[in-house]
Amino acid sequence: MDLVLLGPPGSGKGTQAALLSEKYGIPAISTGDVLRAQVEAGTPLGKRVKAYIDRGELVPDSLVVDLIQHRLLADTQQGFILDGFPRTLPQAQALDTMLAALNRPLDAVLYLQVDPEAVRERLGQRHRGDDRQSVIDHRLDVFLDQTAPLISYYERERKLKLIDGSQPPEVVAASIEDAIRSLAGSGNGSSRTPSRS
Ligand code: ADP
Repeated sequence: MDLVLLGPPGSGKGTQAALLSEKYGIPAISTGDVLRAQVEAGTPLGKRVKAYIDRGELVPDSLVVDLIQHRLLADTQQGFILDGFPRTLPQAQALDTMLAALNRPLDAVLYLQVDPEAVRERLGQRHRGDDRQSVIDHRLDVFLDQTAPLISYYERERKLKLIDGSQPPEVVAASIEDAIRSLAGSGNGSSRTPSRS
């Protein structure tokens, strides 16, 4: 099962990715976590990306695309959950190209819908370095500007599933479960190329 979690900062992607990972035994890949780990470890990549993260800007596409490419080839035979990638149209196109080469199209893109006021409040309660109010506001602008266009991109690909992300985590998890079950139930034959097994 190959899934993408899409949604504004603070929409609960990380929480749901962890739950799904546990439930299905497939890796959750968070670009934010991977990038922060690089910053912590003081690697050359970490040094390049720190300033972007601190300002609430997106890290350049080429860097995250490379990172994801390596990660997808590592241990995702049984599937993956992407949290925080793609975040721009070029990233989405690069992902489609990568997956087409592997003959494994995405099963679904789950869009966690939460209104901006609610996410601002949630993020204000977190204590990460980039969760200061001015940076939060900028990250929300960046989301609307660069990431929100992915909603219609995946709608056109008929992959998008809307999930009400304003509910408590366990309720959101149940909605995601329903969405996943509906994928299996629909046979999903049209969007699937012949089985890769
Ligand atoms: P949130 O969803 O709350 O913003 P993340 O951990 O997903 O938190 O992202 C934190 C920061 O990491 C982003 O503001 C950005 O600087 C960087 N980042 C994460 N994923 C990407 C990506 N796909 N492309 C570019 N930058 C990214």
